[in-house]
Amino acid sequence: MKEKNPKRTDSPLIFERSRPGRRGTAVPEPDVPTRPLEELLPKAMMRKEPPSLPEVSENEVVRHFTEISLMNHHVDRGFYPLGSCTMKYNPKVNEQTARLPGLADLHPFQPTSAVQGALRLMWELGEMLKEIVGMDEITLQPAAGAQGELVGALLFRAYHTAQGDPRKKIIIPDSAHGTNPATVRMAGYEVVTLKSNEEGRMDPGALESALGEDVAGVMLTNPNTLGKFESDVEEIARLVHEAGGLMYMDGANLNALIGVARPGDLGYDIVHLNLHKTFSTPHGGGGPGAGPVAVKEHLAPYLPLPILTRAGDGGYALDWERPESIGKVHGFWGNFGVLVRAYTYIRMLGRDGMRRTGMAAVLNNAYMSARLEGTYSLPYGRGMHESVFSGSFLKEHGVRTLDVAKRLLDFGVHAPTVYFPLIVPEAIMAEPTETETKDELDRFCEAMLQIAEEAKADPEFVKNAPYSTPVRRLDEALANRRPNVRYRPEGSD
Ligand SMILES: *Cc1c(COP(=O)(O)O)cnc(C)c1O
Repeated sequence: MKEKNPKRTDSPLIFERSRPGRRGTAVPEPDVPTRPLEELLPKAMMRKEPPSLPEVSENEVVRHFTEISLMNHHVDRGFYPLGSCTMKYNPKVNEQTARLPGLADLHPFQPTSAVQGALRLMWELGEMLKEIVGMDEITLQPAAGAQGELVGALLFRAYHTAQGDPRKKIIIPDSAHGTNPATVRMAGYEVVTLKSNEEGRMDPGALESALGEDVAGVMLTNPNTLGKFESDVEEIARLVHEAGGLMYMDGANLNALIGVARPGDLGYDIVHLNLHKTFSTPHGGGGPGAGPVAVKEHLAPYLPLPILTRAGDGGYALDWERPESIGKVHGFWGNFGVLVRAYTYIRMLGRDGMRRTGMAAVLNNAYMSARLEGTYSLPYGRGMHESVFSGSFLKEHGVRTLDVAKRLLDFGVHAPTVYFPLIVPEAIMAEPTETETKDELDRFCEAMLQIAEEAKADPEFVKNAPYSTPVRRLDEALANRRPNVRYRPEGSD
């Protein structure tokens, strides 16, 4: 029988491709005497069964992974306007430097005398980041933004405890990223949620009435998750400091400010950076990131151990003698490979390039917002590097923001963030980043406008999208709870 579509549409697991005896490598004959493994390893450490590994040739491996990479969306394939996540393109030069054998083959147990180059790279990265944020000291150890926040909250605690007054509460605006309140709870503080004003900003008056002797400080993302610059931040910092509190900036949105405004100058005491967002190291899917935390001088004694310092001889050393430190927060020195990528990115762009990054990110978002705002409303107005649109005008056709997001996939675009921040009904949060061309932004805007038309003319069509993806509409709750990704070889349990 002739098939209409003889091209295979499924992708077998690599284990299913396995055939006994197939090989992708050839190992040369040993040029030293061989001995049976039993003579070299204790019996208890020997496997009873050979490992269950796929036996495949090199081209099968390459085709397998190329094929599954095409079943997914990624930033090397197309536009990725996932608001809040800053999915900018990751230049390949970052990968080249991260793979240099002198960096990639280091072992964390090597003595500091043998890894001076790596320590220098970390030192210089720290210096550049400190200059970018206007702070005095930094730790590169945290593995992500959320862990940077936790370090920040623990610094709040260490600082206030040292003043003899640990305090109980941390104030967070209602627009905040979900990790902010989660972090505050994890660090043992109570969350006080502050309602944003009609411009989507923190209101100094409302803050003043929430402040008190039991408030350890404020966590304030800037620009916030609506993309709005907190223009009262200096006044806010003054009020918080007068009440004896500290100012923490969630710096995940630094892409909008870089080279233009510095958290340290705005009155913040602590800021975390997401190297995997602003500084272009790959992220998504839970891969390794880095969330350095930079602080003003008065918080330096509490930073995680060890602190990288200059030694007397001009070399680099690790300082473990900080009795007031909150301790270690990550194995060894953090995710070193991510640090190398961020270092490369900053050195490649230089001072001017970094500044233009932020300005282009804001310009791209202004362009995208201007093209869409006649159709999709902006309840809090245009943001800086990202804007939060509302899809509620589609409700009368029975179409929801989720349907728009699904239909966008047919255009080869990753869906924007939806239903966040919670204070915007039917939210669509789009962040173009600076790495996209005007053509790409136009393509995206035209897709968004076309979908709005489709939703009015044929709501069912949009509600059944996507049509062109490897899988259509998944039961997302089930896919999360019982993902079908594990392959069990026949006969195993
Ligand atoms: C991404 C993000 C975080 C969390 O950072 P992770 O590195 O994912 O842990 C926190 N706050 C904001 C505003 C973010 O966008």
